[in-house]
Amino acid sequence: MQRRKMVAGNWKMHLNMEEACGLAERIKNAVDPDLDRDVLIAPSFTNLHSVKKVIEGSPIFLAAQNMNWEEKGAFTGDVSPLQIKDAGSTHVIIGHSERRHVFGETDGMLNKKVKAAVTHSITPILCIGETLEERESQKTYRVLETQLVKGLANLSENELSSLIIAYEPVWAIGTGKTATPEQAQDAHIFVRKKLSSMFSVSFGETIRILYGGSVKPENIDELMAQPDLDGVLVGGASLKAEGFSRIIHFQGVITG
Ligand code: PEP
Repeated sequence: MQRRKMVAGNWKMHLNMEEACGLAERIKNAVDPDLDRDVLIAPSFTNLHSVKKVIEGSPIFLAAQNMNWEEKGAFTGDVSPLQIKDAGSTHVIIGHSERRHVFGETDGMLNKKVKAAVTHSITPILCIGETLEERESQKTYRVLETQLVKGLANLSENELSSLIIAYEPVWAIGTGKTATPEQAQDAHIFVRKKLSSMFSVSFGETIRILYGGSVKPENIDELMAQPDLDGVLVGGASLKAEGFSRIIHFQGVITG
């Protein structure tokens, strides 16, 4: 199955407007318009619109890092699907482990966000992943299964046709500890099989599954050599144009 690869950068709560626009410009200059893979950047809400203007006309996609599921209302401090779209986002990261573990977002809330994203034709990037304790107590697959089943509940294959999953083991995020290529591949196979059994085999085979967790220029090629890694979601290493450009131009097996 040919799945187009994706390299996504999550800038988290970093960079002022000038820095964000400068980084976007440098990434734009590093991305060939005919590149055989997708590139996406996710700045803070406050920088979405300015960064959009910088990457306009380039193949780079823009994502918000979060959103509320309601269109509008009394939700002080939150940002709606309509607002992130208005600012230029085509994608949204949902359920990043920092949202789950620092801000207590539940699978039920994330399910509403996925539903809202697809309703507004925004591509959801649903993050799932186990903690170190869960991995060490052999609960990885159970956790991934629960996050998928609850996060995608009451949604049809058709509604989820644009879905992207990011497998991000919590113990690997921002820690410098990367999953081995084999650990990542095993988890991706599990996720793909689960999606196939929840929906259909063709759905499972089509959905892109990104790996995230301390991806860097030094480990990108061995990770991307794994057949079920359809790309990466990169935090820290996406904040430096040169390193991120090296990640974008990974040398792994290209299947689509
Ligand atoms: C992330 O924020 O999604 C992430 C994977 O971070 P890092 O690459 O810094 O581990």
